[in-house]
Amino acid sequence: MKPIRNLIGDCLCEPSSGQFLDVIEPATGSPFVKVPDSDAADVDRAVAAAEDAFEGWARTPADERCRVMLRVADLIERRLDDLARDESTDTGKPLTLARRVDIPRAVANFRHFATAILHWSSESHRTDDRAINYTIRAPLGVVGCVSPWNLPLYLLSWKVAPAMAVGNTVVAKPSELTPLTAFRLAEIALEAGLPPGVLNIVHGRGAEAGAAIVGHPRVGAISFTGGTATGRAIASVAAPEFKKLALEMGGKNPTLVFADADLDRTVPETVRASFANQGEICLCGSRILVHESIFDDYVGRFVERTRALRVGDPLEESTDLGALISADHLAKVASYVTLAREEGGEILCGGNRAPGPNERCANGFFHEPTVVAGLSPDCRVQQEEIFGPVVTITPFADEDEAVAMANSTRYGLSASVWTRDLERAHRVGARLEAGTVWINCWLLRDLRVPFGGMKSSGVGREGGTEALRFFTEPKNVCVRTPMSEGDR
Ligand code: NAD
Repeated sequence: MKPIRNLIGDCLCEPSSGQFLDVIEPATGSPFVKVPDSDAADVDRAVAAAEDAFEGWARTPADERCRVMLRVADLIERRLDDLARDESTDTGKPLTLARRVDIPRAVANFRHFATAILHWSSESHRTDDRAINYTIRAPLGVVGCVSPWNLPLYLLSWKVAPAMAVGNTVVAKPSELTPLTAFRLAEIALEAGLPPGVLNIVHGRGAEAGAAIVGHPRVGAISFTGGTATGRAIASVAAPEFKKLALEMGGKNPTLVFADADLDRTVPETVRASFANQGEICLCGSRILVHESIFDDYVGRFVERTRALRVGDPLEESTDLGALISADHLAKVASYVTLAREEGGEILCGGNRAPGPNERCANGFFHEPTVVAGLSPDCRVQQEEIFGPVVTITPFADEDEAVAMANSTRYGLSASVWTRDLERAHRVGARLEAGTVWINCWLLRDLRVPFGGMKSSGVGREGGTEALRFFTEPKNVCVRTPMSEGDR
């Protein structure tokens, strides 16, 4: 495959240094394409292209911005099969998942924000009969979008679509581990007729290209999704410069199963919440808390269902879990299973790296879905983000204990609650420290709702009008209204 290139202005170009990095296919462990190892010089050119494009794009009427973004969505949709294959090759996720979730969601992101700007309005406040205030929401200028490897096109489009929709121009940096669909998006943007410089995509390592975007004096806002340690590093650079910052970071999400839960529905859905995308979704429920009266029943059913999951070649239809993103990440996940044993946990199923499912995948990065019980809620395995197919199950005695355990980590991204008791559902939902609480469901998404995390999981919210607000600067204009003739 030809090397991936950056999108700068209207040019698909090589990095100025001429340096590239290998991209490894997780399912095979072999390099399959090269990605630019861009540096500050490339970022500088991208920022200049974005600056040149800004005024024209910001002045483009909303319905024209909408039309070109809808063309982008249509082209992604038209290439759904190819893009899904690229996403699966790049990440190791099952092709069926990329086809069903990742790529359709990228289409939905573009359509959602392209049309949202046609219906969006800004605030007006009347101050008694003395004045009328109205708020102008202007685009910020050049904004930086930095995204992770687990849902590559899905999360990149979740940022760039609202940023562009409201009139900003963008310098984006996808993860260096999974750059392929971002490159396809660059080709699609040119084909759709997006004006040059509105979307620039600079590939490369976080510490080089990513840091250059974050530190660039003419990038006024950063929207970041990734790990909490990276978010902290980004904030330490961006905050002293007073850049606008949105940080979507890690999670250690609790799944609360009460005694009255409908287990026929709860078990399959909580297995999905645990192991979808190999557990590499920030929203996966990795700490399952179960009322002691149903603990044995729930655990028996959960483990049986987990054992039936098939770890396989991501390209095969029957595969439930594909490969983990990298050899390093596989080693990290395996080290947490070792730690779970050291911390006194009992491995109820899984617990090992999985052999490559066929000859093609003999050297891939596979791990069995793993369930651990018997751990104290405050041990490291229950407190730290693993971001892989490893979950813990812990009993609780009553609602207060469940909520205390759920809130006991430094994270606060999402939670799910499984109960037939409506009053309890509302009560517990209100007490949980999480940006999203799902009741009797998981990852049921509505693109209009605020999305983000509390505590070390995030700063700010994405989604719907929250994203449109983040990517604009509000300015209030106060106009005095004379009370009477004599007041003039
Ligand atoms: P990561 O933090 O290693 O990398 C994310 C992105 O930041 C990559 O593009 C990377 O190159 C870049 N980066 C790294 N260092 C940088 C720096 N100093 N300056 C600027 N950019 C830099 O995260 P990851 O391993 O790609 O993704 C996994 C993490 O992302 C997990 O912790 C997961 O929970 C989190 N995540 C959160 C959400 C959410 O919505 N809250 C969604 C998906 C993933």
